[in-house]
Amino acid sequence: MCIFCKIINKEIPSYPIYEDDKVIAILDISQVCKGHTLIIPKQHYPNFLSCEDSTLTHMMKVAKALGNHLLQTTGASGMNVLSNVHEVAGQTIDHCHIHLIPRYSEKDAIQISFHPNKEDHDFASLMNTLAIQSLDIL
Ligand code: 5GP
Ligand code: ZN
Repeated sequence: MCIFCKIINKEIPSYPIYEDDKVIAILDISQVCKGHTLIIPKQHYPNFLSCEDSTLTHMMKVAKALGNHLLQTTGASGMNVLSNVHEVAGQTIDHCHIHLIPRYSEKDAIQISFHPNKEDHDFASLMNTLAIQSLDIL
């Protein structure tokens, strides 16, 4: 059983700040910024992209409401809302979760910056390769 399933089953202690029938939101053990929270579905899915739709929809609603609550209660100036998918993108626990990371300063212990790739990009070709007419969504 994965570590988040053990937390959900109360086999490992945690600091929950919100819970309902579908999700639990706990303080991240690493607290990169004060109030760093993980929203975790009670059912095990390996990551965000494999999570069942209605569960994910609920997680996003919780992320918005709890994110606003955290902004107000921490006094943070901003927030990173993110989900890492697979090791190459920084995922270390293979149970779907969304990070809510309140931000106080650009010098916080988390740095997310986008460095433009200097390669020449053929945008027309890229668009033709990636564009899709319809998505398999409800
Ligand atoms: P990931 O790297 O998969 O996106 O995020 C996993 C997060 O889980 C990390 O930020 C890490 O600090 C947190 N984490 C790992 N083990 C535990 C634990 O036992 N308890 C809590 N509360 N957080 C954990
Ligand atoms: Zn799990």
